[in-house]
Amino acid sequence: MRPFLRLLLFLVICVGLVFIAGFISRTGWFNGLVQPSLTAINNTEVEIEEIVPADGLHPVVADYTEKLIEEAEAIGISILITDGYRTPEEQDRLYQKGRDQHGRIVTNAKGGQSYHNFGLAIDFALLDEGGEPLWDIAYDGNENGEPDWFEVAELAKELGFEWGGDWANFTDYPHLQMTFGYSIEELQHAHTEFEKSELP
Ligand SMILES: [Zn+2]
Repeated sequence: MRPFLRLLLFLVICVGLVFIAGFISRTGWFNGLVQPSLTAINNTEVEIEEIVPADGLHPVVADYTEKLIEEAEAIGISILITDGYRTPEEQDRLYQKGRDQHGRIVTNAKGGQSYHNFGLAIDFALLDEGGEPLWDIAYDGNENGEPDWFEVAELAKELGFEWGGDWANFTDYPHLQMTFGYSIEELQHAHTEFEKSELP
């Protein structure tokens, strides 16, 4: 083959590969393979700087919380959001529950170790017919043969939340979180960096 033709063939193959790669990345199915996180589910990408520092529920999490309430309502389940953003101090107090304070242990996370501390987690409870909160995971208020609690968890997962009820080591049925692919360590690191940058 003449050198010119060889070069031309090479260029055609290159352009073809770039085109195919572009097509595959646009279809989105590849995202699920490399990053099976929230981004793949609802296409919301959040920079870590938009999370840290947190002083309330992250707006994206707040939006999806509203959606969850509406979707649950649509299938006859009323829910109550019992907790959202927690300061590290509030988290520390919760951690002491069941340890040096009376009661059941409710968390294994100290201040700064929970997604609640970064505005990325909520806790929910069901509301009974009288509008009273209910923590009965077997309750079937909409009488469709399925426990309401698990129906809510399913809706939440479809919206991109991770559910604490799926955790093997510390099952936390009321807990829902959106991590946006960030680990607690990454969030803590970003938080430390932010505090440093705030120093005079
Ligand atoms: Zn929680």
